Amino acid sequence: MSRFWSPFVTTLAPYTPGEQPKDRRFIKLNTNENPYGPAPAALAAITRAAEDLRLYPDPSAEALRMAISGRLGLVPENVFAGNGSDEVLAHAFNAFFHGKGEVLFPDVTYSFYKVWCGLYGLPYREVPLDSAFQIDPAAYAKAGGVVIANPNAPTGLPLPLSAVEAILRQNPDGVVILDEAYVDFGAESAAALVPHYDNLLVVQTFSKSRSLAGLRVGFALGQPHLIEALNRVKDSFNSYPLGRPQQAGALAAWEETDWFDRTRGQVMATRDAMAERLTAQGFRVLPSAANFVFASPPGRPAVQMLAGLRDRGVLVRYFAVERIADWLRISVGTEAEAQALTEATAALLA
Ligand SMILES: *Cc1c(COP(=O)(O)O)cnc(C)c1O
Repeated sequence: MSRFWSPFVTTLAPYTPGEQPKDRRFIKLNTNENPYGPAPAALAAITRAAEDLRLYPDPSAEALRMAISGRLGLVPENVFAGNGSDEVLAHAFNAFFHGKGEVLFPDVTYSFYKVWCGLYGLPYREVPLDSAFQIDPAAYAKAGGVVIANPNAPTGLPLPLSAVEAILRQNPDGVVILDEAYVDFGAESAAALVPHYDNLLVVQTFSKSRSLAGLRVGFALGQPHLIEALNRVKDSFNSYPLGRPQQAGALAAWEETDWFDRTRGQVMATRDAMAERLTAQGFRVLPSAANFVFASPPGRPAVQMLAGLRDRGVLVRYFAVERIADWLRISVGTEAEAQALTEATAALLA
């Protein structure tokens, strides 16, 4: 607090990301980073793009939007690119949710949604997941707006497209944002629904499945009237959100499908093996379609397991929120990291 702050700043409740330790001695399974690194072709493209850093980048990331839309059977006017999907989501809240009524999202989900509602002064309601942490589509009718992470975070549970379509149909006057940050690890994308629903905005990121969290590139897919609104917000805020290395790196990563498929396949295989070992140790483990598992340790508080793992050099994520106070979110690392995790949990449970 300082007397120089705008009064509004004192009301903000910012998002707290997972710890990024300065020293590298931890096995980091706390921020859902991809253990395999970006496609080598993306790194080469980033290096080449650095030669032109003297010049401003393309403000509309045309080449990247062209490549993304082409693969998905859409046109560039269906694509908006931004500085990480967090920025894309923030612009979408601003573009679609003012003066519309309550924004609905699950009570257990990505905690940034609440933060943006606070930033923009938007009324919201957290809709309880059922006792199995599942979303009930019927609870999301006639909203001012809806935001659903699919798969949901931190549960990892996917929502079938039939449920997504039910939510879209129940909200003819409100935009439904699907945050597909983890969709490439086993859920169904709603990208193919974009031509059929004028209220659908699909948001994806290069941070997780393409291992470019440090580059900051995300994008939205929607009908041109929605994309135009995002562009109006963007061009009133920062007309150059993506630098040259970002645009070039994301484009190359998008086109390098072999690396993408191989590394996400490895992540999914390691995830399923790790979930099986944790289950065998007595953890409750939700069936994950993401690059993390949500697990509840047997016979001891999750915070105790969290601290024990930290002592053994393994960082995982804990949310001090009542409904999920018994649970830990564990990112899928390399095979060796997953082994180290389950050796540490076994030792702590012994
Ligand atoms: C990681 C994550 C994001 C943000 O990703 P960036 O593109 O790195 O900003 C958005 N939504 C969810 C649910 C995430 O887990």
